[in-house]
This record gives sequence, structure tokens and C-alpha cells, in this order.
Amino acid sequence: MLKKLEKIVGENSVLSNGKEKLRFDHIWKTDIPTNAFAVIFPKSTKQISEIMKLCYLNNQKVVIQGGLTNLVGSTETKKSDLVISLDKMNKIEEIDTKSRTMTVQSGVVLEDALTAADEKKLMLPLNFGAKGSAQIGGIVSTNAGGLRVLRFGMTRNLILGLEAVLSNGEIISSMKKITKDNSGYDIKQLFIGSEGTLGIISKVIFKLEEKPTSRFSALVALEDYDNVIDLLKFMQKGLSGSLSGFELIWGETYKTMRDSSPEYSSLLDTNFKYYVIIESLGSDAKVELERLSDLIYQAMEKNIAEDALLAQNDRELKMIWNLREDVSVLAKKSKFDQHFDISLPIPVIEKEVNIAIRKLNKLSYVDNIFVFGHLADGNIHFIIGKSENDKEKTKKINEIIYKNLKKNLGSVSAEHGIGRDKKEYLNTSRSKSEINLMIKLKKTLDPMNILNSGRII
Ligand SMILES: Cc1cc2nc3c(=O)[nH]c(=O)nc-3n(C[C@H](O)[C@H](O)[C@H](O)COP(=O)(O)OP(=O)(O)OC[C@H]3O[C@@H](n4cnc5c(N)ncnc54)[C@H](O)[C@@H]3O)c2cc1C
Repeated sequence: MLKKLEKIVGENSVLSNGKEKLRFDHIWKTDIPTNAFAVIFPKSTKQISEIMKLCYLNNQKVVIQGGLTNLVGSTETKKSDLVISLDKMNKIEEIDTKSRTMTVQSGVVLEDALTAADEKKLMLPLNFGAKGSAQIGGIVSTNAGGLRVLRFGMTRNLILGLEAVLSNGEIISSMKKITKDNSGYDIKQLFIGSEGTLGIISKVIFKLEEKPTSRFSALVALEDYDNVIDLLKFMQKGLSGSLSGFELIWGETYKTMRDSSPEYSSLLDTNFKYYVIIESLGSDAKVELERLSDLIYQAMEKNIAEDALLAQNDRELKMIWNLREDVSVLAKKSKFDQHFDISLPIPVIEKEVNIAIRKLNKLSYVDNIFVFGHLADGNIHFIIGKSENDKEKTKKINEIIYKNLKKNLGSVSAEHGIGRDKKEYLNTSRSKSEINLMIKLKKTLDPMNILNSGRII
């Protein structure tokens, strides 16, 4: 098998000895080693196709790896697995300024794609904490969300064209730059968000936006959850199309983030219950700044907001966003940590979070509960720090967080996906018939069950 794989990609593109594979041990913040018998680095769609033809014939299970930043155990491996890493498919093939599109191979790191668009005065409106490592293939296959979903939608909304390789090596290409195409099923959607279980994404065409010429951010402190909802409505109305971010941070979480570095000491005090970060992207700096500062002033006059800081320069703006994005500060607080990204209808979030916190506080091994999220999307993240860890303790915490999801018509995964870790809770968010249809799709596209086997279903 190794010899045949080397024949496809060349000797330098297959790692099969333990030492060389070390780089692949770094699945985000875990010490889980790559156990696969080999890691292979294709450089083209054709090579992926040949690898998959070989795997299909030999019933060889494959785990696809991108930037390894997923938080749901998707890229863990068994000794008998073959890892396909997209690291060497890292070319930005084209930026078409007239169509406002970007064609990228799936191993391109998000930050590189953002910079390339920026240099052409365009914007790829994807932004989240793992942008320095996460790759396009991982992002598309998990339909990542992030900090600007409120205005631009999830990754799914940003894709015009896609190319993928099926488990039997067949290449499915839908590399079109058009927005409207109702000629039958929208095949590319099958691969977006299916976490590599239906095909290996090799290329994508993104729809880009004109680069905004102004960006302003404010940090707002509030004492009451109803005021948080009022502030969201108030800003959506007042900023209309330019509101692009509305991030909510619970008081305890903000305190830990702010205290993590002296550089944050000029930010708002830590004695409030909630903090919101607002982002406005526009095209007229003077007008945008006046509008945002006026709205914040009004929010304070109306007693919606208690205190606020409008970033006056780039340094302050970056400081506010660094504080929000560096969630590793929270994860590092405890010996072990457990992450959640649930969706709930906005009005029930406070009540459900309080119920969960009350129950979690009763567990002796829980020493930190951090809550924050993309409130406008109804997406709440928990990072729960633990002094001890085992399967039972993890399960107990899962059950507390997921208890009322079904009743509230929420979701066990707003954006990180199901992977291996959340499989047993898929039925909190999906009906029996939905899961059956997923199984039918999987059986049709991957009859040998060799692609990311054991993920999602
Ligand atoms: C600090 C931090 C912040 C984060 N913030 C967010 C956030 O705000 N929003 C959000 O949505 N996520 C967030 N994440 C989760 C993670 O970054 C995303 O899920 C990301 O999209 C994963 O990309 P990756 O390249 O690291 O994929 P990997 O972790 O390598 O893989 C993820 C999944 O995609 C599959 N895959 C990878 N490449 C391909 C391919 N070419 N074809 C088919 N399948 C493939 C893998 O098999 C796996 O199932 C965060 C993670 C961290 C560590």
C-alpha cells in the first residue's frame, strides 16, 4: 500500500515513520497522537482521486486532516487509518476582481486567504480565533461560523463553486462563479458541513465583498439580559446594514479575559454582568463613527447600557478583539477543559445558561464555567474547566448542557460540527427521519464507509 501511495505522490509526500509524523500530534490543545500508518500529502485533485481509487479498491479507511483546529475529535486516528493531509494543496489560484471571486485549493490557511483578498481591496467575510491555522477545506467541511455570521452568513453562504473527490475517486466539479443556478439539486451543499464524510473537498470558489473602508468597534457593559436583547435590536435598527458583529461575554468570563494581560487594563471595569462587543463595517468613516457613538450615547441615556468604550484607534480596536478571540486564556485556566457550542432561541438563553451554571456548580470537579457567544446568531459557547477528567464526568457535563436542547428546538452544534465527540447527542437536534436520510446519503456516496468513518453518524 505504501509503495503504491508513494507512486502517486512521490516519496517525499508520504510520512510513515513515527518521528516524522510528530507535527500531526498537535490537534488543538490535545496530546492525542496521530496513530495512522501513514500521512499522505496530495498536491492536486487528480492525486486525491488516485489515492481514493486505491483506498476504495483496498477498503482502506481514510481520515482527512486540514488545520487540526476542530473541537469535536474529528481528526483523531486509529493505527489502521491513512491520513490525507491537504497541507500541500495551498495555492490561491485566482482572485477575479470583476466577478469578485476567489478560487482556492482546500489547504490554504484562512489568514492567507484573508490577506490575499485584502490586498485586492476585497474582503472574504470569514473571521474566527483559529484563522491562523484553520484551512479552507476544514472550514468548508464544517460550515464554520465565526464573528461575522450576523451580516454575511455561515461559510455556506459565501460559496459559489466547489470541487470534491468521492470515496471511489470520482471527481465532482461544480466550479462556477455564478450566484443563481437552479438547474437541479445544489450538489455542492452536500459537501459543505458534512465534515468530510461524503467527499474530500479539493477546491472552492468564494464570493467576495468589497472591502469596507471603515471599521469601528465598541465594548458595552450591561446589567440585565433583557437589555442585551434591546441593545441588539437598537443597534440592528440604528446601524442597519453596517452591523457586522454582536458578541456577548458573561461577566465572569470577561473578568478572566481582561485579567489575563495588563494590556487590557484600560478596558471597561470588571463589575458588570454582561459585556457586548459591537462591530460596524462601512464605507464612510466619519458618518459611521458619528452614528455608532450617537447610538451608544442613546443606549446609555435609555438605561440599556451601563458603560461603554468606543475604540478610538486601531490599537484599541485590536485590543478589544484580541480579548474576545484568545479563548485559549480560558481553556488554560484548568487542568482539563470541555467545549460547547450550542444554539438556542435568543429569548431563552439567559434562563438556560443559569440552569446549567447552577447544576455545574454542584459538581466538585468543575472549577471554571466560562460563557460567551455570538448572541445575534443564538450561539452560545461554554468552556468548562475541570480538575479531574474521565468518561463519566464528561458525560455528566454533556447531559447538563444538552438537557433542554430538544425542548427548546436548539442545536447541539451551532458551528463546530458533530465529529466523534457529539455523535451520541445528534438526536437532541435531529429527528429520526433526518438521521435516517443522513445514513442513506452516506451509504450512497461512501458505500464502503472509508471516508472519515465514525464521524457524525
Ligand atoms: C481558538 C479556536 C476558535 C474557534 N472559533 C470558531 C468559530 O468561531 N467558529 C467556528 O465555526 N469554528 C471555530 N473553531 C473550530 C475550528 O476552527 C473550525 O471547525 C475549522 O473550520 C476547522 O478547520 P481545520 O482546517 O482546522 O479543520 P480540521 O480540524 O483539520 O478538520 C475539521 C473537519 O473537516 C474535515 N476536513 C478537513 N479538510 C477537509 C477537506 N479538504 N475535505 C473534506 N473534509 C475535510 C476533517 O476530516 C474534520 O472532520 C475554533 C477553533 C479554535 C481552536
